[in-house]
Amino acid sequence: MFETHLECLGCNKKIKITDKYICDICGCSLDVKYDYEKIKSRNLEEILPKPGYNIWRYKYLLPVSDEKSIVTLYEGGTPLIKSNNLSKEIGLENLFFKDETRNPSGSFKDRPIAVGVSKSIELCFRTVVAASSGNAAASLATYASKANLDCYIFVPEGTPVGKVSQAITNGARVIKVRGDYSNSYKIAKMASSKFLWMNITTTFLNPYTLEGDKTVAYEIYHQTDGVLPNWILVPTGAGPLVYGIYKGFSELKMFGLIKKIPKMVAVQAEGCKPIVRAFENNENKIKAWKNIDTIASAIADPLRGYEKDGEIVLKVIRDSNGFALSVSDEEIKDAVKELARREGIYVEPAAAVSFAGLKNLIKINKIRKDEKIVCVVTGHGLKDPNSAVKDVKIPLIEPKLKEVEKILN
Ligand SMILES: *Cc1c(COP(=O)(O)O)cnc(C)c1O
Ligand SMILES: [Zn+2]
Repeated sequence: MFETHLECLGCNKKIKITDKYICDICGCSLDVKYDYEKIKSRNLEEILPKPGYNIWRYKYLLPVSDEKSIVTLYEGGTPLIKSNNLSKEIGLENLFFKDETRNPSGSFKDRPIAVGVSKSIELCFRTVVAASSGNAAASLATYASKANLDCYIFVPEGTPVGKVSQAITNGARVIKVRGDYSNSYKIAKMASSKFLWMNITTTFLNPYTLEGDKTVAYEIYHQTDGVLPNWILVPTGAGPLVYGIYKGFSELKMFGLIKKIPKMVAVQAEGCKPIVRAFENNENKIKAWKNIDTIASAIADPLRGYEKDGEIVLKVIRDSNGFALSVSDEEIKDAVKELARREGIYVEPAAAVSFAGLKNLIKINKIRKDEKIVCVVTGHGLKDPNSAVKDVKIPLIEPKLKEVEKILN
């Protein structure tokens, strides 16, 4: 806004702001200069706003009393991005993405994990453990490093390498467990009671972690100036994120800050949808899912052994007049590409189910054109880069313009 000109880093020649990259006189690179006098005459708080926009600004609503126990890498405070391309394509006026890929370890799991790790410090634990489909593993390993805690992780054998690599590089002891996520869940629970480790598994198992998920609701409240969305679509595994967002809004309602809680929509993959199946069949009981078959590994939770957790989620979906639906792997792959190519938001398969689900809700006429919608996108594309695009061929050339021209033709 206050840039004035470019200046050569070699001969100090001044050049006006254009598409120049090097100085014509000496061939050195260029540096951007500003009118610092004009900048200094503004209000400095406006020019350099205070940092610290993270979940702990809501510390009075989080379950850690001793501030010295707080472990933070500035999780939360993620942007609410207005859609300009996809919204037009699907005929909506007010579509937003809550971009959770911006968290320190690349997924929203940093919110629950930061709270769980801080609570472990407050409760004087030295060792933490979690079962994870990958993102909670990456996150817990990250925060355990920061907090100097020993960290054990149990993951299903098919966990994407990006997430396992994050956990290992951060120094966690990663152990793969045969079978699906519920097997890892079971063994983490057994190990934590046998060895007296704090269990920071981010399902409903650890009550503190769930509180971190509430902060998504507080942020959406602030980011929309209280004009809340009508619908919030959430990628759903066991469902603590949906539940946590609902709980956050319930608190705001209790404080008299909002009148109505947005309709919560849980989206699962067709190949693992225990909660959606119960919703579709109008049942109150959840049955564990049998044969998992989906690329959305981060939400592939069969709920075996803790089926009742899914029932808590069903209740908040119904209480909010919301909905639950599933999407196919083909729809997930399309949504991954559309988010990246039309909005510049690069996510892993599980994170794209909220947008894929939105398209299906529109098809069945559940959503009005003028309603405000938030799709939560939960995890970064680099965590599982191979899953959505396996069949792309990239040209390789000699550094000759002729070869580029050949490709362009
Ligand atoms: C964990 C996770 C979810 C699902 O969260 P739940 O709170 O278990 O329902 C969704 N997306 C991604 C990328 C995740 O890592
Ligand atoms: Zn009980």
